[in-house]
Amino acid sequence: MMRRQTVILAGFLGLLALGPVFLPEFYVTLLNYIGLYAIVALGLVLLTGVGGLTSFGQAAFVGLGAYTTAYLTTASDLPSWLAIFGASPWLALLVGLALTAVVALVLGALTLHLSGHYLPLGTIAWGISLYFLFGNIEQLGGHTGITGIPSLSVFGLEVKFGREFYYLIWALLMLAVWLTQNLLDSREGRAISALKGGSLMAEAMGVDTARSKTVIFLIAALFACLSGWLYAHLQRFVNPTPFGLHIGIEYLFMAVLGGAAHVWGALLGAGVITILKQWLQDLLPKLFGSSGNFEMIVFGLMMVLMLQRARDGLWPILVRLVASNDGNAQVAAVPQAEPMPKKPLPQPGTRLLEVKDVVKKFGGLVASNNMNLWVQTGEVLALIGPNGAGKSTMFNCISGVAPATSGEILFLGERVEKLNSREIARRGMSRTFQHVRLLPNMSVLENVAIGAHLRGSKGVVAALLHLERAEERRLMAEAARQIERVGLKEHMFDQAGSLALGQQRILEIARALAADPCLLLLDEPAAGLRYLEKQALAELLRRLRAEGMGILLVEHDVEFVMGLADRVVVMEFGEKIAEGLPEDVRQNPAVLEAYLGGVA
Ligand code: ADP
Ligand code: MG
Repeated sequence: MMRRQTVILAGFLGLLALGPVFLPEFYVTLLNYIGLYAIVALGLVLLTGVGGLTSFGQAAFVGLGAYTTAYLTTASDLPSWLAIFGASPWLALLVGLALTAVVALVLGALTLHLSGHYLPLGTIAWGISLYFLFGNIEQLGGHTGITGIPSLSVFGLEVKFGREFYYLIWALLMLAVWLTQNLLDSREGRAISALKGGSLMAEAMGVDTARSKTVIFLIAALFACLSGWLYAHLQRFVNPTPFGLHIGIEYLFMAVLGGAAHVWGALLGAGVITILKQWLQDLLPKLFGSSGNFEMIVFGLMMVLMLQRARDGLWPILVRLVASNDGNAQVAAVPQAEPMPKKPLPQPGTRLLEVKDVVKKFGGLVASNNMNLWVQTGEVLALIGPNGAGKSTMFNCISGVAPATSGEILFLGERVEKLNSREIARRGMSRTFQHVRLLPNMSVLENVAIGAHLRGSKGVVAALLHLERAEERRLMAEAARQIERVGLKEHMFDQAGSLALGQQRILEIARALAADPCLLLLDEPAAGLRYLEKQALAELLRRLRAEGMGILLVEHDVEFVMGLADRVVVMEFGEKIAEGLPEDVRQNPAVLEAYLGGVA
C-alpha cells in the first residue's frame, strides 16, 4: 500500500509536469516567478524557520547571482581569464555561487556570533549597500541595468521561452527541496534545529553552533544566488529594483506566511504572496482611484494578523485540513540497527571527576570559594545547599559553561577547566538542565538523537545527498535504545512538548545518555516534580548507578537526596560547610543551621 504522503507528492509532481501543456501563457509566467521566489524562501525556511536566524538581505544575494551572470555574459572588455567564465551562463553560475559563498562567509563571520538583533541588522545593512552598489557602478549599467543577457541552454537545448524555463526552474526548485529535506532529516539537520533550543543546550550536546549557523547562512545565500541567476536569464535584463531591501522583506514574509519551519511552506508562501500581489495590484488602484503600491499595506496588515493568529504559518493549517479525514494515522517503527561502539566504562572505583580549590568570582562576588569535591564510578554525589549557595555556579565551572577563575578540574585524570562545553561533552561528561531545554515540536526520539551528535561523523554534504543513511539508522537506533533504557518507550514518537515535566526531565537524561557518558551532571532534576515522578527519577538514577555511571546531582530538595545519594557535599555562600554520608550530614549542626534553618 502506498503511503498517503507519497500519493500526494506524486500527484503534485504530475500536475507540475503537465502544467505548461494546459495552462495559458500568463499562468506559466506566474508559476515561473513563484518557482523563483520559492527557491529563495526555501533558504529562509532553513535559516529562519528552522535555525531561528533572521535575514532581511536575501534579495541582495539574489542580485549577486543575477548581476554576476549578467555582467560576465554581456561584457565585451573582460580580461581573458575572466572571459572564459562569460562564455557560458553555467560557468557564470559557478562564479556567482563562489562569489556568494565568499560574501556569505565573510558576512557570517562578522555577524553570526553576535546574538539577538545584530544579524538582522547586519543583513539589512548589507542589503541596502549592495542595492546601491548595483545602481552606482557604471559597468553594471547604473539604475538602467544590463540588457542583452543570453538565453540558457541545457544539454544543447535552448531554454528561451517561458514554458521551457518553467521546467528548468521547477526542476531546480524540486532539487533544492530534496536537498533541504535530506539535510533536515539528518544528524546535521538536528544540530541546526538544536540552535532554536539555545546555544547553551546545543553546545552541551557537542554541536558546533557557530559552524551550524554558518552552514545554513551559506545554503540560504546559495539558493538565493541560484534564483537570481535563473531570473537574469529568464528576463534577459537586470536592474537593481528587484534586489532592494523591500523585496528582501517580501521573501521573509513568504517564508513566514507559508510556514517558516516547513520545506513546503516556502512554495505555499511564495505562491500565495505572488498571486495575491498580482491580484491586489490590479484591484487596489481601481478601488482607490489612483496608482501606488497599495498591496504593501495589505501585506503589512496580513503580517500582523499572522503573527497574532497563526505563528507557524499556513502550511501546518493546510496539513491539518488534509489530515483530518485521514483515519488511519501511521505508527512509525522503532528504529533498529547495529549498536554503536561504546567507550568502555572506567574501572570500578576510578575517580571520574576531581575539583580542586576552584574559585569563581563574579566581579566582587565570590560565588565559589576554594571548592573541593570528587565523584567516582558507580556513585551518586549530591551537591546541596540553600538558594544562592553557588551550586549552579559550580555546575557551570565543571561543565565548561563558565570557566573557573582559578583552581583545577580533572576529568578522567586530565585537566579540563579551560575547555569549552563541547570539548568536555566529547570526553564523556553529559548534562541536563535546571530548566528543561527541549525542542518541543520535535519528537522524543529526535530530541534524544541530538544527544548522540558526537557519536556520528558524517557531515553536511553527505546529509544533503542522503549518503549517511547507515550512520543515521544507527544513531536513531541508539536514541531509541536510550529511550527504552529510561522507560519512555511508549512516548518515543510523541512531541516532546506534550510530555509532563517529569517525563521531560527523564527525556533530558536519555538525551544525555545518548552521548555515551561515564559521568552525568544533573542540575536540580527533581525541581517541580510530583511525588511519583520523583520516585521514578530516583529509581532510574539508582539503576544507572548500578550500571557503573558516576552521577553528580545538584539539588535543592533534601529529602530526594537523602534517600539516593552515597555522599553529600553541602555548600553555603560559595563555601563547602560539610561533607559525608547522608545521615551524618543530616545531623551536622552547621548544616542544620544553614540549610535546614534549624528545624528537624
Ligand atoms: P545556587 O545554584 O546554589 O542557587 P548560584 O550558583 O546560581 O546558586 O548562585 C551563587 C551566587 O552567584 C548567587 O549570589 C548569584 O547571585 C551569583 N551569580 C550566579 N551567576 C552569576 C552571574 N552570571 N553573574 C553574577 N552573579 C552570579
Ligand atoms: Mg541553581
